[in-house]
Amino acid sequence: MKKRILTGDRPTGKLHLGHYVGSLQNRVALQDEYECFFIIADLHTLTTKPEKEHIEKLGRNIYDVVLDYLSVGIDPEKSVIFLQSALPETYELNLVLEMMVTLPRLARLPSIKDMARAAQINEETMPFGLIGYPVLQAADILLPRAHLVPVGKDNEAHVEITREIARRFNRLYDEEVFPIPDVMIGDVPTLVGTDGQAKMSKSLDNAIYLSDDAKTVERKVRGMYTDPNRVRADIPGRVEGNPVFIYHDAFNPDVDEVNDLKARYRKGTVGDVEVKRKLARAINNFLDPIRERRAVYAAEPGKVEEILMDGTRRMQEEARATMHRVFSAMGLPGPLLRGAQQRGEPFRLLDV
Ligand code: ATP
Ligand code: MG
Repeated sequence: MKKRILTGDRPTGKLHLGHYVGSLQNRVALQDEYECFFIIADLHTLTTKPEKEHIEKLGRNIYDVVLDYLSVGIDPEKSVIFLQSALPETYELNLVLEMMVTLPRLARLPSIKDMARAAQINEETMPFGLIGYPVLQAADILLPRAHLVPVGKDNEAHVEITREIARRFNRLYDEEVFPIPDVMIGDVPTLVGTDGQAKMSKSLDNAIYLSDDAKTVERKVRGMYTDPNRVRADIPGRVEGNPVFIYHDAFNPDVDEVNDLKARYRKGTVGDVEVKRKLARAINNFLDPIRERRAVYAAEPGKVEEILMDGTRRMQEEARATMHRVFSAMGLPGPLLRGAQQRGEPFRLLDV
């Protein structure tokens, strides 16, 4: 029996290089070793954007994210790609898991505070559901009973909460229903933005998208933030923490070229123009096979939707099996009643 992976993305727009190094790269690499479940977490978008106008955009965004998955080499023959809001079991498990964690534990998380700030939400306007974001994520991870969660650094604390919730559930009902999942952080834990901000993020408008064409990549790289103190090409520059070199390290496989550029940059004998030209070429070389795969899948109408339907059907089986185990371990009356109904058996509330 292969161990399982669960990870995924919120369908808030197209995926970028940060998503790739943070999580997608590991997913593609581990597809054969693990049974993989990749979630399009549309319910999570409701935590900050529940309005109808945002829900109306989900269809487009879901399409784009699935196409991004297929483009980077996630193989629907091997891995399951599914849609979170299609599974009633997610809503069910979420409620059960809400009882396994305290409010202060959730309220202290910096990631929730960051998300609230980005959405201009304060303490008074904080939705219950946003505080519960990591609980819903725990439901996602535990529903397929995953062992490993490849995510970017910003999600590490949420996987830790999932571990606590799983332990608490197993202890409370005295049954090993859930494996305690491990986190796996990508090669670049958090990729900086093209503007030098700590995180590449679509909301910060500092991202290079997996679907960007070559000209767009060239333009974005040309405008990248480098060493601000280096006002001329002939003064020594800083390589460490310099976004241009962070990207070179992440996307340029020509190590000799990168080392040569770094050495000359430190000495002040190479211009930004050359460093950036070579970076744009490296990123475009990296994106070329991704572009080719995208074109193949995009050319077949209905293909993306078919893959999502098949994956969701497969996940549905796992979700039912897990919830059966959850409710059996708990001995909750409602699901027992439902089971009796389905089997056409009598249902007893009192032991006789
Ligand atoms: P954005 O800020 O662009 O909307 P996000 O963080 O909201 O991205 P999520 O759907 O929340 O995107 O996260 C998807 C996955 O991608 C998570 O595992 C997250 O850690 C990872 N990720 C997102 N941005 C980066 C980044 N800049 N570097 C590394 N990993 C990232
Ligand atoms: Mg997002």
